[in-house]
Amino acid sequence: MYSTAFLDLPPFVRASGTVRLPGSKSISNRVLLLAGLAAGTTAVHDLLDSDDTSVMLDALQALGCGLRREGAVLHVTGLGGRLDAREAQLFLGNAGTAMRPLTAALAVLAATQAGRFELSGVARMHERPIGDLVDALRQLGCPVADLGRAGYPPLRVGDGAVHALRTDAPIRVRGDVSSQFLTALLLALPLVATQAEVAIEVEGELISKPYIDITLRLLGRFGIEVQRDGYARFVIPGGAQYRSPGSIHVEGDASSASYFVALGAIAGTEAPVRIEGVGLDSIQGDIRFVDAARAMGAEVEGGPGWLQVRRGAWPLRALTLDCNHIPDAAMTLAMMALYADGTSRLTGIASWRVKETDRIDAMAAELRKLGAKVVDGADFIEISPPRRWQAAAIETYDDHRMAMCGSLAAFNPLAGTGGSGCPVRILDPRCVAKTFPDYFEALFDLVAATPGGVPVITVDGPTASGKGTLAAEVASRLGYHLLDSGALYRATALAAQDAGISLEDEAALATLAGRLELRFTGHHVFLNGRDITDPLRLESTGGMASRVSVHPGVRQALHGLQLSFRRVPGLVADGRDMGTVVFPDADLKVFLTASVEARAQRRHKQLISKGNPANIEDLRADIQMRDERDRSRAVAPLKPAEDAMLLDNSSLSVEDSIDQVLGWWQQRKPF
Ligand code: C5P
Repeated sequence: MYSTAFLDLPPFVRASGTVRLPGSKSISNRVLLLAGLAAGTTAVHDLLDSDDTSVMLDALQALGCGLRREGAVLHVTGLGGRLDAREAQLFLGNAGTAMRPLTAALAVLAATQAGRFELSGVARMHERPIGDLVDALRQLGCPVADLGRAGYPPLRVGDGAVHALRTDAPIRVRGDVSSQFLTALLLALPLVATQAEVAIEVEGELISKPYIDITLRLLGRFGIEVQRDGYARFVIPGGAQYRSPGSIHVEGDASSASYFVALGAIAGTEAPVRIEGVGLDSIQGDIRFVDAARAMGAEVEGGPGWLQVRRGAWPLRALTLDCNHIPDAAMTLAMMALYADGTSRLTGIASWRVKETDRIDAMAAELRKLGAKVVDGADFIEISPPRRWQAAAIETYDDHRMAMCGSLAAFNPLAGTGGSGCPVRILDPRCVAKTFPDYFEALFDLVAATPGGVPVITVDGPTASGKGTLAAEVASRLGYHLLDSGALYRATALAAQDAGISLEDEAALATLAGRLELRFTGHHVFLNGRDITDPLRLESTGGMASRVSVHPGVRQALHGLQLSFRRVPGLVADGRDMGTVVFPDADLKVFLTASVEARAQRRHKQLISKGNPANIEDLRADIQMRDERDRSRAVAPLKPAEDAMLLDNSSLSVEDSIDQVLGWWQQRKPF
């Protein structure tokens, strides 16, 4: 997982393969709340594990619900309508799907059972309106206090006393700012409809209707059949009582699916992109994104729980669409519009302005950076594709969807505007954790860049110069793959030892090296299924490796294997000849050295700390001998590439060296 403040995507040219989607955020948080309110225990399968669900889980825990994990299943034991804790302070991050329904449910529980709860979130949550819901709860007779600006969180619901609720008259709620206010009431009011029915009337035209359909469906699963008159009036029958369905499955997230549908539509040229976890039978409104993608030219097939997408029309067809029914997935359409044959216009998106960020402003600003022409207004956005794409650092505004959308700009070489494409930088990429923590890993599994398009940083240098540590750290911070090429020579030496092959027998060693069954998982290395992590690092193995590595046949046999590490989004490769022989076109070449004395001291410290006896004189001599052998061999001798940056780290800390290399890397980027 990358840890820099940014993630750089090389230009992508193809997408294919299968992605398994994480659970739907909207379904997950509704199911959690329903299970937490119901009587009995609910086994929740395929729950989304993300920032927004974790704040909901923390809240349920604070309220006294039982939570037990068993593998991939979460067992939630609900309150059965009775408050366990009567007071709590709940922090709900930036999760609207937690803030709105919990406010409503706790307001009615607190009023009827003498509770008092405070609900707050991050700064942006305190800018997201909730006044319409608060008005509705006050009509009902629930005490709700604004703890900050009126109409916005933080809020306090309940005042520690019992209040009679007025359920005889319909509760009126506005539906034109967020459908979550209605969802919140629908989820909360069954708690007070135990005797007589309760009605809700919607004022204004309800937006995002499909989300209400999800709410109604899930209420049904928990024993509440709501009667309704279109989307204007809803009646919860008297005698309502939440009952656990025992077990429930969470569908994959249809909004998350949209990025992969777009991937197929833009770059599924050779093989389709297959999406598992959500299908054409989905109960989520955002599945209708498929129709919009088809209208733009995507070829989509699908069945229960799966979709498969290929490129159809190319360039994509420009689209004009009222997106009221697919507010979240519509952002993905804005990205697809970059690859269209004309100007696209998305309307009915006023709600974008009150989401994680003002998404109309954010989208307009970032698309312009890429070179697109954008016109925007209160409730629409109009996008003309770039004539000339520009490398851009995409700001994400702590909005997961801005980050995921931004990644779709990396297909710019396919736009047919000439050139080999521009890289795209995603700023603060970890904000995807809100709904899809592994988004970028899933993306990288499916996309390919042109062969020379994947960036490579090489770190070469003599033994014990610290290049392994440096390379691993740089790779991890950039989220790049790592090639420890020395490990391949070491593994060849170990395999030769196992097979009783002489270290002088070039032909036999070359055959062996060409057939190495090596697997790297985390910090472990397996050779033919055996964990060789420890023997690989032994001094004696390093010595054998240096003898094995002088044979041209062995070097040749390992060449292809080394090249295969060059995969999206990038590679850091360390060794002796990474910059000179294996990756001569690397984007940055570092040659790391340190004095023999400094290297001998470091190795000495390292060995002693691991409890291995070591003698500094012997180490110095050994290092000198290995330097000499690596430098003087006929093929791929150790020497800096002509265009390498020299870094003598004799008196630098590891952190200093990392900063230096990341600094050089930064200078080579167009952002
Ligand atoms: O870097 P490490 O100490 O793991 O490398 C072990 C040996 O493998 C080195 O001493 C060197 O002889 C050889 N090697 C090489 N070319 C590389 C990496 C390592 O010849 N790219």
